[in-house]
Amino acid sequence: MSNRREWSEEEDKKWTDELNERLSTDKCPACGSNKLTKHLMGRPYMAFVEFHKAKSEELGWQTLALGGCCAGEGMPDTTCTACQATEGSK
Ligand SMILES: [Zn+2]
Repeated sequence: MSNRREWSEEEDKKWTDELNERLSTDKCPACGSNKLTKHLMGRPYMAFVEFHKAKSEELGWQTLALGGCCAGEGMPDTTCTACQATEGSK
């Protein structure tokens, strides 16, 4: 385990703000939990993925999942970590 961060202070602030915004606005339609795993489409920016890995450990639930190389085809936008309900594209 390394504590070295792969991202900058600016990115940390921006992404933390984005995540906090998500936590305050996004709610699971089924159970009301705000602990939604976001599925990242396309080629990921690795520092962004690393940031979310660290956040997931800190928070105790997965904030981000990689959705593979192509969007669509059964991949939801988000999955609720509490009840597994999915939301977004079918
Ligand atoms: Zn839910």
